[in-house]
Amino acid sequence: MGYVTKADRMLIGGELVESTSGSWDESLNPANESAIGRVPAGTKADVDRAVEAAQRAWPAWAARSPKERGEVMRAFGEKVRERAEEILQVEVADTGNTINPMRGDVGHAVDSLNYYAGIAHELKGETIPATPNHLHLTVREPYGVVARIVPFNHPVMFAVARTAAALAAGNAVIVKPPETSPLSAMILAQIAQEALPAGIFNILTGSGATVGDAIVRHPEIKRIAFIGSVGTGLAIQRAAAEVCVKHVTLELGGKNPMIVFPDCDPDEIARAAVKGMNFTWQGQSCGSTSRLMLHEDIYDAVVERITDIVSRLRVGDPMREESEMGPLNSAGQYRKVMDFIESGRNEGARLATGGSRPEGELFRKGYWVRPTVFAEVDPKMRIWREEIFGPVLSVCRWNSIDEAIKLANGVEYGLTAAIWTRDLKNALKTAGRINAGHIWINGAGPHYLGVPFGGMKNSGVGREEGIEEMLSYTETKVINIVL
Ligand code: NAD
Repeated sequence: MGYVTKADRMLIGGELVESTSGSWDESLNPANESAIGRVPAGTKADVDRAVEAAQRAWPAWAARSPKERGEVMRAFGEKVRERAEEILQVEVADTGNTINPMRGDVGHAVDSLNYYAGIAHELKGETIPATPNHLHLTVREPYGVVARIVPFNHPVMFAVARTAAALAAGNAVIVKPPETSPLSAMILAQIAQEALPAGIFNILTGSGATVGDAIVRHPEIKRIAFIGSVGTGLAIQRAAAEVCVKHVTLELGGKNPMIVFPDCDPDEIARAAVKGMNFTWQGQSCGSTSRLMLHEDIYDAVVERITDIVSRLRVGDPMREESEMGPLNSAGQYRKVMDFIESGRNEGARLATGGSRPEGELFRKGYWVRPTVFAEVDPKMRIWREEIFGPVLSVCRWNSIDEAIKLANGVEYGLTAAIWTRDLKNALKTAGRINAGHIWINGAGPHYLGVPFGGMKNSGVGREEGIEEMLSYTETKVINIVL
């Protein structure tokens, strides 16, 4: 048994447990398709158990002062940091993401815990001078039991960083890791068992259709936060609405434009466009700038340079420091990406580089695809309109800004956008006309802690990573005092 970790228990009510099903799901290393660990195959009964435990736990947690909650969260963060190397090894083997940039994930998770621990005092209410003979007050109360459903691209980071706000606000959390990369959550379960009060942090593994759906439909979970695909987001909204009124926030997919004006340096743009694509996660990033829109004056120069850089990216074992791209996360992702590449070819885009499996012994098994660039992409093509969530960059040209804005906004998504020009006035005007929740000017890619992240249109509802996220885990209660 070549398992990379022995950790294989869910966390329910402070206990490391198997599933009531008694069954297990094995997780595969996407680089070679070997089984590298197992997790309990959770059931609806497990969800019920976790909700009962969380219900028992949250009132005492919410009754602690923000300072006390913050101290517990910081101590939890330190314990996560102590096991960072072990988490990293498991996460890289289980996701296929390359080790070098993946080092940042645990650090970012701990930074988020510390950030929300620090701002918990901002769970403030207001006094409103509505009438002279009253004191009108608002107070913020936690929902109680909340759920966080996590995608496969940054499992441990999302499980920690994106639950910190809910914990700071006094809630108990149920985390559902992704089924194709669930192993790091089993280490997290051990750490949380030691570091957090029983029942305020629960981890339930299993399929989306069983465990995810049971979480969404549980009537005692009124607040659900989801990161994943548009299709699943819509399914969650529908399922939740069949049960009761719930507060559902969604961080969904993107098909993000990078709009480049003719005053830019082609070398700089080529480097930025490759970085913005997040090839280090095989393009499996919601914020990837997967639609590159070049002004026709610099189109040829940039396409030539990008083709050169992308064709030289080092695809290889994600555990090796020098690898710049690993395998796709799963067989399903591999099929989906290959299908998109096929459609790009069939619809007449020009394949500038990539488009196939790399050659060599290392790539015989596993979900490998070469980093791919399509030029001369037409906005009617599927590769322009739909999120591929893979290492495929689509490039098109423009010559009038009105046409460029129409192109940029002409998809169902509105997550991020990048605008490149030396003319700041032009950049700001363009930013004002782009329907996206997060825009970079002369940059692409990074998130900044404390700065809200989230999408417009079908890219989502709600904003995370700033104070707004923490407040979204509370309900406002008004108290009117007659004087
Ligand atoms: P997915 O929607 O397939 O799955 C996400 C999670 O939902 C998994 O844990 C899965 O088990 C669970 N799930 C599946 N069906 C469910 C159901 N019916 N009810 C409840 N839960 C269910 O997404 P994925 O393939 O893991 O991730 C890729 C997607 O995530 C992409 O579209 C990407 O853009 C998006 N994403 C968005 C952000 C963001 O911040 N906007 C960040 C990362 C990823």
